[in-house]
Amino acid sequence: MEYTTQMDAARKGICTKEMEIVARKEHMAPEQLMALMAEGKAIIPCNKKHTCIAPSGLGSMLTTKINVNLGTSRDLTDLNMELTKVQSAVDMGAEAIMDLSSYGDTRKFRRMLTEKCPAMIGTVPIYDAVVYYHKALGTITSREWIDIVRMHAEDGVDFMTIHCGINKETAGKFKRNKRLMNIVSRGGSIIFAWMEMTGQENPFYEHYDEILDICREYDVTLSLGDACRPGCLQDATDASQIEELITLGELTKRAWEKDVQIMIEGPGHMPMNQIAANMEIQKTLCHGAPFYVLGPLVTDVAPGYDHITGAIGGAIAAASGAAFLCYVTPAEHLRLPDVKDVKEGIIAARIAAHAADIAKGLPHAMDWDNEMSAARKKLDWEAMFDLAIDPEKAREYRESSRPEKEDTCSMCGNFCAVRNMNRILDGEIVSIFDE
Ligand code: SF4
Repeated sequence: MEYTTQMDAARKGICTKEMEIVARKEHMAPEQLMALMAEGKAIIPCNKKHTCIAPSGLGSMLTTKINVNLGTSRDLTDLNMELTKVQSAVDMGAEAIMDLSSYGDTRKFRRMLTEKCPAMIGTVPIYDAVVYYHKALGTITSREWIDIVRMHAEDGVDFMTIHCGINKETAGKFKRNKRLMNIVSRGGSIIFAWMEMTGQENPFYEHYDEILDICREYDVTLSLGDACRPGCLQDATDASQIEELITLGELTKRAWEKDVQIMIEGPGHMPMNQIAANMEIQKTLCHGAPFYVLGPLVTDVAPGYDHITGAIGGAIAAASGAAFLCYVTPAEHLRLPDVKDVKEGIIAARIAAHAADIAKGLPHAMDWDNEMSAARKKLDWEAMFDLAIDPEKAREYRESSRPEKEDTCSMCGNFCAVRNMNRILDGEIVSIFDE
């Protein structure tokens, strides 16, 4: 092969088959995509070993993509249940699956994913190291942490979250600037605890060049983790978050020197009025690398409804430049999501992503909405169900409350504005009262 990573290919002017596919999906000239990829502003996460992937691109000039977090935990270890969720996530339009398994035979599940799943597969090697070595956190060595990164790359993972921004300097800033919610990133809290117990530098920061060499070999995209993402509104845009972002910006440049594709992870919990400014800060400090946001949740008081708080924040973030939204389910902060929670989380994230694409003015983004409006105008209920983001739910609602007049719905019945306008414009008499 004449190139190592997709970024290397773009810089050499080689249009890969993955670029051709993504350019077609994005209604974009391949040359335009290649130029963005050469600069690091667009990426195509696709490990050379994940051969069944249907490639997708990430970047603020591309359509917004969504990720679904799945995986086993100590309390729920049913692989079949997780595979059912994976299949339904892909069917419902998720472009990426992050396997956050933290219990059981994690390698078996990960390999099943990269053998069968066409979506991008992401992982967080930190979690897996604790499961894989099956020993106390403080006894895991620097070498062992890095070996897990290699193992995930060999298993065909397309992108990995690496918490390398929380080095000794960031940790010091965090300790000096007290927070309401401390560190809420799972990986971030693990590596912070390891650093505190061993007194050593973060191995993912210290051995970053070695990690880059692994990523370059397999074309793994690094998702630079935000260990210090705010875990509540009060902590948003504080010293720890910004200090870490500055470090992530430096690490982005180092990755690009080795042609490694990069995205940056972001908040978190954040008041609505800070989101657009945060996207600008990220773009500036991280040189335009695609931003992957985990929410942001715009209020802290809605457990059971955090797919909504996340979708509000996600829509604002994506309209302001974020490229990739991590879904949030109604189970957030409460339990591991079940199949129904996963569905609700995906739909909410897709709504946020689509709304943002319209706001960004992406070509053809509104075609879908226009088709729906045309079907509504005709009161063509079957077409409306087909076009609905959740056809099943739309049909169920209508079936649960049938109208007297078949072409209307039970909301307004005889007063149906759409029906009455169609009739009057067709020259019919509209009485409403005695119909
Ligand atoms: S009855 Fe009312 S809500 Fe239902 S389709 Fe007609 S205008 Fe819309």
